[in-house]
Amino acid sequence: MGEVGSGFAGFDEGRVGPSWHWLHPRPGEVVDWLVVSSEPLWFTGHFQAGRMMVCNTNLCSMCALGVGKQRRWVLVGIDRKSKEVQAWEFGDSVAEKVRAWAEKYGSCIGLNLEIRRAGDSVHSKLLVECMEVRKVSESLVSRVPTVMEVFTLTFGLTSNTP
Ligand SMILES: [Zn+2]
Repeated sequence: MGEVGSGFAGFDEGRVGPSWHWLHPRPGEVVDWLVVSSEPLWFTGHFQAGRMMVCNTNLCSMCALGVGKQRRWVLVGIDRKSKEVQAWEFGDSVAEKVRAWAEKYGSCIGLNLEIRRAGDSVHSKLLVECMEVRKVSESLVSRVPTVMEVFTLTFGLTSNTP
């Protein structure tokens, strides 16, 4: 038997599966992204050799080398076009905007964001707008990992958040 559900949330749930990826918006792409986390996780890390590494506060080799630290934020959501479950990592300036919307609407969950790059580079600044707020069903929440699960699976640790 196929899947059965009630309500229009099916538009967002359709093909949502158990696997997930990190969201990396490409230049020119417009991502239609539905936040499924009620709040973000944050950590401090170092951008080194093309990837974000979690700062290992006391014994951090990158701190020892003087590599700059930054605060990063993580939310889990779905790409509404592909139905792919994604984790999204972003910096303080985007987090300020997401925070303002979360305060206005009561939670991060259900924020329907439009995410795109400002320029032609994969490193160009992210432009993020909140298009609307959608109802997110319990069944969708139960099908996606939590921000902590995503963080743990990616970085292999849980007790290192500052
Ligand atoms: Zn460090």
